Amino acid sequence: MEQTIKCTINAGRLWRHIEELGRIGRNADGSITRFPFTKEDLAAQTLISRYMEEAGLSVETDAAGNLIGRWTDPGCKNNPPVLTGSHYDTVLNGGRFDGTLGVLGAIEAVQTMKEAGIRPAYPICVIGFKDEEGNRFGYGMIGSKSICGIVSEEGLDSEDQDGVSLRQAMTAYGLQPEQVQTCRIAPVKAMLELHIEQGKVLEKHQKQIGIVDGIAGLVRYRIVIHGESGHAGATPMTERKDPVVAMSKWILKVTQLAKEKPFCVATVGSIQTFPGTCNIIADRVEFTLDLRSIHEQDICEIMQTMETENEWLEQTEGVCVSQHLEQRLSPVLCDMKLKEQLQKICETGEYSYMYLMSGAGHDSMNFKDVCPLGMIFVPSEGGYSHRKEEFTGKADCAAGAQVLMEVLIQQSCT
Ligand SMILES: [Zn+2]
Repeated sequence: MEQTIKCTINAGRLWRHIEELGRIGRNADGSITRFPFTKEDLAAQTLISRYMEEAGLSVETDAAGNLIGRWTDPGCKNNPPVLTGSHYDTVLNGGRFDGTLGVLGAIEAVQTMKEAGIRPAYPICVIGFKDEEGNRFGYGMIGSKSICGIVSEEGLDSEDQDGVSLRQAMTAYGLQPEQVQTCRIAPVKAMLELHIEQGKVLEKHQKQIGIVDGIAGLVRYRIVIHGESGHAGATPMTERKDPVVAMSKWILKVTQLAKEKPFCVATVGSIQTFPGTCNIIADRVEFTLDLRSIHEQDICEIMQTMETENEWLEQTEGVCVSQHLEQRLSPVLCDMKLKEQLQKICETGEYSYMYLMSGAGHDSMNFKDVCPLGMIFVPSEGGYSHRKEEFTGKADCAAGAQVLMEVLIQQSCT
């Protein structure tokens, strides 16, 4: 049944919710720290539950701590649900739009649909996913992974700096990590996530809506280069096996290779030298590589080239290079039909739009083998994210929620 009711989301209400939720975990400098399994987490959960109830959803939490607001109209029968949502945790000193816009935008979309008298034929679940960022344990997205049935035992055993495991932290918070398999939702008709872009692409192109083509895959390595320690004054340049010099060449090479490929980014974000003193040539360096692309092939090619580079560095610099793979995630492509629907919605609603890739990972990527997935991006002012300057204007938030609502109507009513 095609429903042609035209409705507009309540931009003021959405903005008020963003501002209210943005006060939970707020630091003195205006940034937000809302880690999972904390009192801030609980306060946010309580507030979002209230919004869900006000929207007329029946609210529950699952064993992994996901907050789920369900709308099951009597006409839905046993049809699979359409899922929408995002996360509501933040990084250390993060912003108030990352994740939360996708949760609050989804609630707003559903509330507007209800107020307009729309009767979906498929249930809609609005989800606030638990621990997307993985700040404390490294194993992020426990919530969406639980719903998709892909939580690993090793993931639950991940430990924080104090040796507390994710499993223990969940239990202490009143969750049931041994029951995460009960969180599984299947089958699912579609998963839709609204999120801020966290980059400058939309702003640069002056587009209001980003239709996400796919989410980049990534590899994370720890690189160790061993050289030879020596006195900074007494060791001639020709006699050195300096791992810092080798590391510098390594970083220049990997970043150049990434630059040569479209949709590919390489970052060395953490470097340590040992012993780490100004007047001693280091005997060892350790650093990280985070390499992302939507084309898995590009990642493989770059890492192959770096193996040749390692041999060359060993010969020319007298060092020893080793690479340790710590994480690998395959790229995820969004559903073609959902992308077409989103494009049509943008054209009909006269929203400027463009297709783009997501360099960051998102909860919805876990749904790649579960159901078709679609992602909507809205602009991040200045491209800032994961910091206090993170900002998306009221009109852009509203446009994102409106587009989300219209695709939810199409997915849930036909
Ligand atoms: Zn996010």
